[in-house]
Amino acid sequence: MLMSEKSKQHADACRFCWMCHHICPIGNASGHERSTPRARALGISLVNRGAIELEEIMDNIYECVGCGACVHDCVTGWDPVMFTKETRLLAALDGKLPDYISKLVENCLNTGNAYGKTEIDSELCDAVKAHSEKTDTLLLLGADARYMVPNQAVKAIRVLEKAGVKFTVLADEPATGAQLDFLIGAANETKEQMLACAKVMSEYKAVVIYDPQDAKAIKQTYKAYGVEYSAEALTYTSFVAKLLKDGKLEAKHSDKGVTLQDPCQLSRDLDESEDAREIVMSYAVLGEMLLNRKETVWAGNILTAQYMPEIIKKVSERRIFNAKSVGADTIVTASVSEYAALRAVATDVEIISIEDLILG
Ligand code: SF4
Ligand code: SF4
Repeated sequence: MLMSEKSKQHADACRFCWMCHHICPIGNASGHERSTPRARALGISLVNRGAIELEEIMDNIYECVGCGACVHDCVTGWDPVMFTKETRLLAALDGKLPDYISKLVENCLNTGNAYGKTEIDSELCDAVKAHSEKTDTLLLLGADARYMVPNQAVKAIRVLEKAGVKFTVLADEPATGAQLDFLIGAANETKEQMLACAKVMSEYKAVVIYDPQDAKAIKQTYKAYGVEYSAEALTYTSFVAKLLKDGKLEAKHSDKGVTLQDPCQLSRDLDESEDAREIVMSYAVLGEMLLNRKETVWAGNILTAQYMPEIIKKVSERRIFNAKSVGADTIVTASVSEYAALRAVATDVEIISIEDLILG
């Protein structure tokens, strides 16, 4: 495998280190040592030394969900996400992707989303049509909301309507490239999707990004890949927090006690953990989970549940256990994908989104 010297160096540094293995949500859910950052590094270093074949570690390579908990925890600055993403890219270039990943990649290339969906739900379709007129502000819903959780996409639109914002939603929204980036890293196909999205974004003054995974890609990865756009890119939570601050949304505070699930892309990658809190505290009483803000624990998503559903269920159940441990019976989410993952397993805990809080 023709891995860069930088990734080789990081994998070799991690391969016998145990310091962060307890914080990996996948390792903790599976209970398997092989799911941890150091075991993934060991596998990669064995491939780099010609001791085993790349195909032998590919399932393990896709167990990493890129939550960045290990990277954040590493006091010596090594980066398991970097060498994992590079291994995915090299496997893609070498035709060694597992079949279940090739299918998702094919869907991204054919339909712009990993799920292969081409139609959106009728209620969402009507809500989108009502905002087809060109304005200065684009609301980018993202693949998960549009195709997998359309009721949340409608709520995201309703919140901005409630605040009197003039905005556009596109019927043929471009793929942001975030899903391809997760699946095959910095491939040409990923960059092409990102460039096409950046071109559309540049037709607007501001772009409000609903899905934190897309926000991370647009605000961070585009820059790393040299993809430029002229619009101001804003996360949905920062935009809504400002609407509240400016009095465009009138909050009705209640005594309802809730806890917040920090999306790792907002709190860890983009350093935006307070906007979601300000929104929640305007409507309810916030109690913090033990691991919050930058220390948040990823609570599952829709994309990885396509190929490891049982592990993702356990990940979500474990995060609900964290919430119950501080006496919370309601978890507020700021990520549409975590909303779906947590709701899929919640039994005695209520899962609501920040849109639910605002719309009442
Ligand atoms: S990321 Fe840091 S703490 Fe984690 S295994 Fe690598 S060297 Fe150890
Ligand atoms: S990025 Fe997250 S899922 Fe991947 S190895 Fe690190 S802690 Fe585990």
